[in-house]
Amino acid sequence: GASALIIGAGIAGIATAVRLAAAGHPVTVLEAQESFGGKMHQLTLPGGYRFDGGPSLFTLPHLVDELFRLAGRNPHDYFRYERLDPITHYFFADGACVTAWADEDKFAQEVETKLGTPAAEVRQFLAQSGKSYRATEGTFLHKSLHKAGTYLSPEVLKAVAALPQLGLLSTMHQHHARAFPKDPRLVQLFDRFATYNGSDPYQAPATLSLIPHLEHGIGAYYPEGGIYAIAESLVRLAEELGVQFRYNEPVEEILVTNGRVTGVRTAQSQYSAELVVSNMDVVPTYRKLLPTQPAPERTLGQPRSSSALIFYWGVGTEFPELGVHNIFFSQDYKQEFDAIFQQKTISPDPTVYVNITSKKTPTDAPAGHENWFVMVNVPHDQGQDWSALVDQTRAAVLAKVSRALGQEVGPLIRAEHVWDPPGIARRTSSFGGALYGSSSNNMLAAFLRHPNFARQLPGLYFCGGSVHPGGGIPLCLLSARIVADLVAQAN
Ligand code: FAD
Repeated sequence: GASALIIGAGIAGIATAVRLAAAGHPVTVLEAQESFGGKMHQLTLPGGYRFDGGPSLFTLPHLVDELFRLAGRNPHDYFRYERLDPITHYFFADGACVTAWADEDKFAQEVETKLGTPAAEVRQFLAQSGKSYRATEGTFLHKSLHKAGTYLSPEVLKAVAALPQLGLLSTMHQHHARAFPKDPRLVQLFDRFATYNGSDPYQAPATLSLIPHLEHGIGAYYPEGGIYAIAESLVRLAEELGVQFRYNEPVEEILVTNGRVTGVRTAQSQYSAELVVSNMDVVPTYRKLLPTQPAPERTLGQPRSSSALIFYWGVGTEFPELGVHNIFFSQDYKQEFDAIFQQKTISPDPTVYVNITSKKTPTDAPAGHENWFVMVNVPHDQGQDWSALVDQTRAAVLAKVSRALGQEVGPLIRAEHVWDPPGIARRTSSFGGALYGSSSNNMLAAFLRHPNFARQLPGLYFCGGSVHPGGGIPLCLLSARIVADLVAQAN
């Protein structure tokens, strides 16, 4: 097959490498950092704490299994995971606590007991989320939306027919407030799913109410050894298939000859190839690697998704009331999202997410300790005073979790590392440190993401969280599948 160069060893770049190598292409991956993973990296802190650096919630695990199967391997020889139960522990500002059990009926019953909304209404809402998911996945997720063939397929017609129920015209928050008019805490619980692609529930279309189905219907999973094991096991597979990984080798230019992509130039060398796949964020791919080519300005100018501020804390005790995923909600959710998306700052009372992998992987912290990944949603970098915001937010987070847990957490912190939006941008080249490329804060967002190929430049493809179908592990894996399909059609 035609030779392929992949720019970046993020999860989508690795998955694309596996697919192209399995289809018989010689593949080289050029990675700027000293190792693979991109946002999905890992880190350790003094005292024996290991952390997953970026993603922590894993859904649609069959998309990973599929990569091993297409290479003729048994996934379980490389990568194992279990279904999480419970999924999440929710702590509301008024002191109420809700445990999200994996079983939908058990979760619905828990909501009735703790918050008062009848279980039947919760079950009905979750069933509708599943219906929306099934109506749209074939269209919005599995194919390139930008090829004429996709527009004419039966799946697209089915999805378009379902759109009135899917609520393209109302927001996610309006949809939830209508479903649960008497239960603002349950509305907040479901509104939070907008943050799974870095969006604002008060702006994002109600269509995104299909996201809860991923977690509650299909399931949340935990990979043995943590999320980093996904990248690690796929790199092992790629290497077995003959993929060459070159680290510390940033690509500086995509080479174009006679209107066709012919290779890349790195700091060290020049490579020619018939195919180039960029796993680098699409904005710097055009701005830095293709400075003389016309760029799709409208697509690149779409508002960015939110970013994150993360505190990685080694904590010197154990909290039995916490699980793998824990949410400490803000008092005023509207104010929190206005702070992020309108004022471009961090709310003084942010919702706090705490992920603790040592609950499942005890070697991630010393005995009797825990490894806390503490994350707050924040705007992407636009030159804010991050050091002041980090200090303000650390204090707000400590006050909030200490109040909810009835114990001062500050004095228990044995080690700390901080990752802020400029740091995310530096490490992964994501524009502004946005976690999920552009946001889905308007109904056309799905159509305005960059396609998985370059219209003007034959031979150039795109995968990863900044292009179609979107950010997050499952969608990044689907982008790799779409790229491999497009390459197969073109060659
Ligand atoms: P990236 O991970 O962005 O990697 C791109 C790679 O390209 C990097 O390794 C970079 O060094 C390399 N690169 C860039 N430019 C060049 C160049 N010029 N030359 C060579 N190499 C280059 N998703 C979920 O599903 N669940 C979650 O719970 C979740 N939580 C998250 C929490 C955080 C804090 C973050 C940061 C992300 C989270 N996400 C989550 C999103 C998920 O991590 C990303 O969507 C996904 O990992 C992005 O993968 P990617 O392949 O697009 O590339």
